[in-house]
Amino acid sequence: MERTLLIIKPDATGRNLVGHIINRLEKARFTLVDMKLTRLTIDEARKFYAVHEGKPFLDSLTEYMSSGTVIPMVLEKENAIADLRKLIGATNPEQAECGTLRNEIGVDVQHNSVHASDSQESADVEIPFFFG
Ligand code: UDP
Ligand code: MG
Repeated sequence: MERTLLIIKPDATGRNLVGHIINRLEKARFTLVDMKLTRLTIDEARKFYAVHEGKPFLDSLTEYMSSGTVIPMVLEKENAIADLRKLIGATNPEQAECGTLRNEIGVDVQHNSVHASDSQESADVEIPFFFG
């Protein structure tokens, strides 16, 4: 069994898509291990996205991520990290495959509804960030 972190982002909580997303995760046989509803400060968002330091979209991203409710959760499944990345689809919803979450509900490359850990190394940092 493997664990990964998913965050429901402010564009999705703002459109009342929380239940829909959790339903899709459960249908894909992810088990919900932990979850909370919170709001990030800009500094917390910047810390979470530290790997993107220096990128042109970082300021706008951290502003967006601290603009509303976020719901981080720990999900468990065999091959959870890769399977969740597959389920959410490409970063840009326009490029995300049909049937993926971002293709279905993402708005644009920034407001793409969900975050998911991209590797074991990321999950090992991102899970304790919210559930220490
Ligand atoms: N992002 C953005 N503009 C870009 C690329 C990314 O606003 O050109 C945002 C988007 O919300 C994305 C997050 O930054 O989910 C992190 O980017 P990353 O490349 O790690 O994409 P992800 O791993 O989320 O697919
Ligand atoms: Mg990423």
